[in-house]
Amino acid sequence: MILIACDLDNTLIRGRPQEGDVPVEYSGERVVTYMSRRTLEIIANLNGRIVLVPATSRSIEQYRRIKVFQEYAPVYAIVSGGGVILQNGEIDGAWDGRRKNVVDSTRGEFERVFRLLQNDVRVERTKIIDDAFIFAKSASAQRVIDSLKRDAISFSILRHNEKIYVLPPGIDKGAALAEVKRRLVPSCVAAAGDSVLDIPLLNGADYALVPSREIAAKIKAPHILVNPETADFSVFVMEFAARL
Ligand SMILES: [Mg+2]
Repeated sequence: MILIACDLDNTLIRGRPQEGDVPVEYSGERVVTYMSRRTLEIIANLNGRIVLVPATSRSIEQYRRIKVFQEYAPVYAIVSGGGVILQNGEIDGAWDGRRKNVVDSTRGEFERVFRLLQNDVRVERTKIIDDAFIFAKSASAQRVIDSLKRDAISFSILRHNEKIYVLPPGIDKGAALAEVKRRLVPSCVAAAGDSVLDIPLLNGADYALVPSREIAAKIKAPHILVNPETADFSVFVMEFAARL
């Protein structure tokens, strides 16, 4: 069995549609994200040999909005940045117990970071995602991070454009992937992702698929494949998985 662990936003789905894309997520009447028709076709036709595991920093609620994963429900999904594993759509109790232990053992630091972000005027909004990690948004994200570092934050701080993610040690997509691997015992693992949050996920795979050389330079999987500039990244990823 082949396991393919895929980030969602800007890997399998996107906010800005390209020609022929299919809407896959709505907020009321408004379309939030799209998927390429070809990618959707491959996902719809996956046989049991290839197991797709979505791996996202989205909250459980945001993940559940994506209707393609209601229709083609994956057995496992990694959500909340790895803090939560969904098994057949429901929160996996064993993994959730681990999340609670990790967060409870660092509760003081968790609350300190959250307060620092709440009190920083440069931060537009901050919230705790599924009691797994802290998210913040700021037009001065790097400066906010520099301040956190001066406050000797021991958590890992990651930035993706204006978004800031502060994760307690042990909460990341790679740790959750290791757990899913332990349970499914795949013969081969491929992973795809576009941001620094995906590095632990990509490092846990035999084949790491990335959209650019920039992210490729930051990972150390046995095989690294960079999306050709002319190709749609999600199609590149799913066609590669289907050929494995
Ligand atoms: Mg992404």
